[in-house]
Amino acid sequence: MALLRPARIYRRVTEITADDLRAMGVRGLILDADNTLATHHSQTPAEGVTDWLDGMRRAGIELRMVSNARDSRCRPFAHTLGLGYTALACKPLPFGFWRAVRAMGLKRREVAAVGDQLFTDMMCAHLAGVTALLVEPIEPETGWSFRLRRRLERPLLRRWKENAR
Ligand SMILES: [Mg+2]
Repeated sequence: MALLRPARIYRRVTEITADDLRAMGVRGLILDADNTLATHHSQTPAEGVTDWLDGMRRAGIELRMVSNARDSRCRPFAHTLGLGYTALACKPLPFGFWRAVRAMGLKRREVAAVGDQLFTDMMCAHLAGVTALLVEPIEPETGWSFRLRRRLERPLLRRWKENAR
């Protein structure tokens, strides 16, 4: 499924380096919130995230958070992290990513998006024309809709990881 396959898979967002991004020609990074920067609904960034964001800023990487979550979840979290953001982005519809690309003043090919879900984050990156980077979810979700989505993701992920070996 070419619409879902990420350019690279990382375990945690903090493993992405500015050198990785530069090698891909990427100068801006769109960040998912839940299960990428923090556990689901948590206002506390995951371990190392704050320092990692500072490192990216020092390296001159533009950063924006784009989330499907409500403004009440995103606003305080984005404020804590010092990030511009879009809430209720309706990923995989590409408009939130296009808005982020414009806000960064970059071209689509100069932007990557990182997230933990194939059917929202990765598909959105492909539809929006930016590089897709996948991370493993920080913590497994408990809701039925998430369990279903993760079950649908599993065979694809397995195949990609086998091919990457
Ligand atoms: Mg997420």
